[in-house]
Amino acid sequence: LGAALSLSACGSSDDNSGSDSKSSSSKPAKGKVGVILPDTESSVRWETADRPALKAAFDAAGVDSDIQNAEGDADKMTQIADSMIASGVTVLAIVNLDSDSGKAIEEKAASQGVKTIDYDRLTLGGSADYYVSFDNTKVGELQGQGLADCLGDKPANIVYLNGSPTDNNATLFAQGAHSVLDKISTYKKVGEQAVPDWDNDQAVTIFEQLYTAAGGKVDGVLAANDGLGGSAISILEKNGAAGKVPVTGQDATVEGLQNVLAGTQCMTVYKSAKQEAGALAEAAIALTKGDEAQTTGTTKDSTSGRDVPSILLDPQAITKDNVKAVIDDGGQKASDVCSGK
Ligand code: BGC
Repeated sequence: LGAALSLSACGSSDDNSGSDSKSSSSKPAKGKVGVILPDTESSVRWETADRPALKAAFDAAGVDSDIQNAEGDADKMTQIADSMIASGVTVLAIVNLDSDSGKAIEEKAASQGVKTIDYDRLTLGGSADYYVSFDNTKVGELQGQGLADCLGDKPANIVYLNGSPTDNNATLFAQGAHSVLDKISTYKKVGEQAVPDWDNDQAVTIFEQLYTAAGGKVDGVLAANDGLGGSAISILEKNGAAGKVPVTGQDATVEGLQNVLAGTQCMTVYKSAKQEAGALAEAAIALTKGDEAQTTGTTKDSTSGRDVPSILLDPQAITKDNVKAVIDDGGQKASDVCSGK
């Protein structure tokens, strides 16, 4: 069965040239949009999925954009922001590395008349005009439910490998996952730790410690993204348990999808970069025109209590059975997912 399904995912073509509808106010979009991505290490998504999707969305709308990457360095993000502001961007979007540095960047931008948008991660205590993301609590719920579906209702010891403690999303993912798994009385948490900066190498060490501390009696792993999932899988492999212990993930990366097809990962969560980048472009363009963006609601900033106008998108759970959905949506190419590792 697995092989047949893998084949169906791997049998689809790479052509996903979908057409996107553009926002259609008659006022011209003025100015330039700056976007600062966080790093290249916490997930491959930022450079492989977000950057091309963002560029395509701005190009399609005829809007000038400058997309840079802070390489995991908050000082570098501050410097990039300063130079973008000096170069005359009218809207600045950031994926913060931590809320404090993000907040300072947003304050500075506002003082220079530059509008700001939180892209993917909410800056706690920040002043962004908009927040564009997926419903991140729902991401965690999908991970929790995905793990439960893989485990069934027999007794199970679960280890939680959470994302960076400085990333508000990581808090929401963990909350969402716990809200599902804590309700299942046969499950027991035997370890939980946050991984600084989502660092995959540290995650290997952290997971190995948790696994050893649990005496190897681990039946399921709630890993917050595909990178952390891969770290856990490497230790399970070392212990002859890969494929027997379900592991979750997020981002539908090539490696994550390959692990799902191989059966070493139980699920991942697909968050279309095309959708998220498109939503950011639309909000940014509205701001450059002096318009308001269309929101889906507000998000409560747990630090300031502010209700931040938000555009929140719907994440999708991916298991062996629907890997093809990611490929059909253009989220990955069949040729990449189906190439041997
Ligand atoms: C994003 C995830 C990503 C993680 C590490 C989170 O804020 O929502 O998609 O895997 O950061 O970069």
